[in-house]
Order: sequence, then C-alpha cells, then structure tokens
Amino acid sequence: MNVERSTVLEVKGIRKSFGDLAVLKGLDLTARSHDVVTMIGASGSGKSTFLRCINFLELPDAGTIRFEGETVRLAQQGGGRAQLDRKQINRMRSRIGMVFQSFNLWTHLTVLENIAVAPIKVLGLSRKEATERAEAYLEKVGLIEKRHAYPAHISGGQQQRVGIARALAMEPALLLFDEPTSALDPELVGEVLAVMRTLAAEGRTMIIVTHEMGFAREISSEVLFLHQGVVEERGPPEQVLGNPRSERCRAFLQRVL
Ligand code: ADP
Ligand code: MG
Repeated sequence: MNVERSTVLEVKGIRKSFGDLAVLKGLDLTARSHDVVTMIGASGSGKSTFLRCINFLELPDAGTIRFEGETVRLAQQGGGRAQLDRKQINRMRSRIGMVFQSFNLWTHLTVLENIAVAPIKVLGLSRKEATERAEAYLEKVGLIEKRHAYPAHISGGQQQRVGIARALAMEPALLLFDEPTSALDPELVGEVLAVMRTLAAEGRTMIIVTHEMGFAREISSEVLFLHQGVVEERGPPEQVLGNPRSERCRAFLQRVL
C-alpha cells in the first residue's frame, strides 16, 4: 500500500545574524509527517537559533517557512523592516510544541496546571476538558500520580516528562526538542528518551537537537550535522553517524562518542 505522507514543514534558505555575527547562513529542512529529523553539531553551531526560527521565537532575516501548507507572511512595516503577522504566527505556534533543555515549567503551578494552562488559554478548552486532557497525557508519560506536585518536588527527568506532556496537550502537528536531556543527571536520561521513543513509534513528526548519538541513530529518519550555521552533512542516520563524508562531522562524532 502506498501511504501518502504530507509535508508538515518546509524551511528554505533561513538566515539569521545577531549584529555582525552571522549565525544561520541559509538552512533548509523538510519534515514530512512521521519524520524524526535530528540535528547535531558543536555548541554555537546554530542549532537552538534554527529551532527558535522554526517556531518564530526568532525572526529570520531571510528565507521561507511553510508549515501545514501555509507560508509565513512577513508584513512590511513603515520603515521597510520585516515583521511577522502576529495572528498567523500565534495560530501556527499553537500547532508546534517545544520542549526545552531547561524544562521551563511554571514553578508556582502544579504539574497538572502546567499542562492545562495553554489548552485553556490558547485553545479555549473548559477547565474540566483541559484537566481531563492533562491527565491523559500525564498517564502517557507515566506521571499521573504526580499531578498535584509542584515542579520543585519532582526529579529533573520527571520535570522533563511534564514538559513533554505539556507540549502534547496542545496536540501539535510538530514537536521540537532542544537538547531535552542535556540538563539531566545521567541516570535520568533514559526515562525521557523512552517517552520520546514512544512518540516516534506513534508516528509523531519531530525535530530533535540532541547529543545522544545512539538514540539519534535508532529513531531518526534524517540526521543533519550543523557547522557554523551551515548544514555540513545530511542523510540517513547510518550514513551521517556511521560513515560521515565530512571530516568535520567525523571529528565531531569522535569528540562526543
Ligand atoms: P547551539 O544551539 O548550536 O549551541 P545557538 O543557536 O544557541 O547554538 O547559538 C549560535 C550562536 O549565536 C552563538 O555564537 C551564540 O552566542 C549566538 N547567539 C544566539 N542567540 C543570540 C542572541 N539572542 N544574541 C546574540 N547572539 C546570540
Ligand atoms: Mg543550543
């Protein structure tokens, strides 16, 4: 059977500078539904900035972003400076889930409230609906018994699983992960990767920045190696992680493995 897979995200020619520092020098990325695209690369190579451009936390200087068939409009302002169309961006952003290295949970809200707040505020769910939804995703990440705990009272691995449940509760079309396990003690990494593996097996479309090379090799449909704001190598995980053509990619892998 020929299963048609739609293009969820198509990013072309993304450039971004901070002052004189050119951080992204023309990046392309395509994710079709069920794809797991992994980005690797040294610290400072532009991985986070690229993810932040994809969900519009940063405004790219150039390039195009097409998400779920909709092209992002850059509205010209008075002085000719490009600006994002806020309505469109908010609509798109509600369909893109982001999981951060530092969890970014609200410390004054319980686990359950952390997950329910955006579905209530952004999607307009009732408190009851949002609570039911939050509980369902807490079950999924194995933390239903922690629903009334505050973030400070659970482990880092548990906090990150809450971060994932919070992203899932928006029922996004695309999930972005920025080094989701880098802030964790080694013994807590596995529980977060296990949840992510489940999501990949469900066919969720994901873009992941990680230094967990074994994990990347196992779940990626494509791996991108970034070097100084350029995709230096891209391809299937066996190639990029197993037998890279680029000398820089080879050297990077030797440092991190
Ligand atoms: P990575 O995630 O691959 O480590 P980043 O995207 O965080 O890389 O950063 C790439 C480069 O951009 C770094 O040199 C960083 O210092 C710089 N940078 C990132 N964000 C900003 C910012 N808001 N202002 C100025 N420089 C920034
Ligand atoms: Mg980063």
